[in-house]
Amino acid sequence: MKLVILDRDGVINHDSPSFVKNPAEWVALPGSLEAIARLSQAGWRVVIASNQSGLARGLFNMETLNAIHAKMRTELAQLGGHVDSIFICPHGPDDNCQCRKPKPGMYLDIARRYDVSLKNVPAVGDSLRDLQAAAEAGCTPWLVLTGNGLKTRDSGELPPGTQVADDLARIVDRWLEA
Ligand SMILES: [Mg+2]
Ligand SMILES: [Zn+2]
Repeated sequence: MKLVILDRDGVINHDSPSFVKNPAEWVALPGSLEAIARLSQAGWRVVIASNQSGLARGLFNMETLNAIHAKMRTELAQLGGHVDSIFICPHGPDDNCQCRKPKPGMYLDIARRYDVSLKNVPAVGDSLRDLQAAAEAGCTPWLVLTGNGLKTRDSGELPPGTQVADDLARIVDRWLEA
């Protein structure tokens, strides 16, 4: 099984310092949904792992988050793409959970759910904590330069073996031609 783990904000959709709080604020990045559709059609399983501390902060509730994801899935389906499952951390920075990235908990849950080793599973993110969680879980970290990506690249703290590409579309180009 070809599995890929994606961060959401800054990878699939525009991120916002004031959080993506409702479906109207969820806006796909250019080419990202098309890229996921190409993966789906090539037989990849696409899974999202996303910190959503806006839940803990009371900025939106689970019903609204489900509506945001329904919008994403609808737009994706129109392009022939599919997200297999969405793992979220609903906690805040001070909750000390095991799922909020940079902790690897969501990735380990994904490995258990799909009964796979994460070795050689690519995990795409735009923030350092995505890459750190990915590396800690044993995935191959991929950095996109959308969202926080430029800042992350320039931090100089990328985990060893991190691959870098302009955006999700460029990454998928590389995977599908490999
Ligand atoms: Mg992000
Ligand atoms: Zn959590």
